[in-house]
Amino acid sequence: MTTADIAANLEKIQQGVARACQRAGRDSREITLEAVSKKQPPAVIAAAAQAGLSLFSENRVQEAKAKIGQCPGHLRWRLIGHLQSNKCRDAVHFFEMIESVDSLDLAREIDKWALKAAKTIPILLEVNVAGEASKFGYKPEALLAELAAINDLKKIEIHGLMTVAPWTPEPEKVRPVFRRLRELKTQCEQILGAPLPHLSMGMSGDYEIAIEEGATLIRVGTALFGPRATVDAETP
Ligand SMILES: *Cc1c(COP(=O)(O)O)cnc(C)c1O
Repeated sequence: MTTADIAANLEKIQQGVARACQRAGRDSREITLEAVSKKQPPAVIAAAAQAGLSLFSENRVQEAKAKIGQCPGHLRWRLIGHLQSNKCRDAVHFFEMIESVDSLDLAREIDKWALKAAKTIPILLEVNVAGEASKFGYKPEALLAELAAINDLKKIEIHGLMTVAPWTPEPEKVRPVFRRLRELKTQCEQILGAPLPHLSMGMSGDYEIAIEEGATLIRVGTALFGPRATVDAETP
């Protein structure tokens, strides 16, 4: 993938974002594109940076830790994959946001390391909306039950919700999943008594539908970089 290839893909995605926003009556400036760079080598990430991208998402702490130092220094990184508690220290160090928090214990561990690092970490709470056994994320009821306790932690800030929709060849089928995440965000806002700015939902195959349903963050890998070298454990 050259800079020109990635720039051409980026333009197509921006057109898709614009179309979806037009259908939904939204302003495309409400949507932030995260370039999902998992499995991509630093040279491809550097080419993406040349094409104008600066926000990258990784799903594994170890992989990100090995790559970030070899990538341009101005890039911003987020974690979108399952986080184990023994990796929280690194996660707090390397990522500006953790989008995959799915338990109070994990939130406490992140809070602990954020305190030691004298930082405040923005997080998203990951929800397994469709209840798939193969996926991480809160069950909706469990999220609502733990929300207040997570919100009490001093060094993390809840910025919204994230979901990975089930894979399907017909993106229209995942619309109810995105809609449910948006409704859950409203329920969370009622519990917290404060607005949550972000809904991270939509990937290469379904970001237009996610935007129609209220996504503010879309996480796009394949549509930018082409197929990944190896099959990922978390997403087909
Ligand atoms: C891999 C991944 C993506 C991107 O998937 P594509 O279909 O390649 O766009 C988005 N979100 C998460 C959590 C992922 O693991």
